[in-house]
Amino acid sequence: MKDTSFYENIPYRYAGIIKDDVNNGKGIGLTLFVQYCPHRCRNCQNVHTWSMYGGFIFTEEILEKIIDYFKKHRYAKRFTLSGGDPLANPLMTNWIIKRVKKACPWLHIWLYTGYVYEDIQNEKIYKNIFPYLDVLIDGPYEDELRDITLAFRGSSNQRIIDMKKTLEENHVITMNLEEKV
Ligand code: SF4
Repeated sequence: MKDTSFYENIPYRYAGIIKDDVNNGKGIGLTLFVQYCPHRCRNCQNVHTWSMYGGFIFTEEILEKIIDYFKKHRYAKRFTLSGGDPLANPLMTNWIIKRVKKACPWLHIWLYTGYVYEDIQNEKIYKNIFPYLDVLIDGPYEDELRDITLAFRGSSNQRIIDMKKTLEENHVITMNLEEKV
């Protein structure tokens, strides 16, 4: 476990945003690709997101634009944080999720991480984030387990976790989502 000062030194940056996205979660939504990932999975398709100094500065103005998109496009009911790894920059992710959920409480929040849930579930810095999540897709991309038939994930070790039920029952409960939309 890293101390908070490590996370305080990670810049707030992002790699991209997809509006009207249908690939990174169920239904229509907006996906924010956070910059920085420490996992370095073999054959990762987002190598450009690894550096904490790449991408673009994430500002208050961009956050307001995301909120504005959701308020004006009520068919978009999902906000996905992907990367990079949003949990590698927990202070930024915490700030974004809280602000978006407060402004748009109807949204479903999805988050992709390369960490395995059981390895981080008791870390205080993540305990502030988990209650905001509806779905957590966890685990690194493992190239030898690559399976293009899987919905919403790249390799079969990755799980689609129902976070509300998991927190209620205090053990991992996965979802069986075979249809993308
Ligand atoms: S967790 Fe995702 S972004 Fe990070 S190295 Fe693995 S596949 Fe790439």
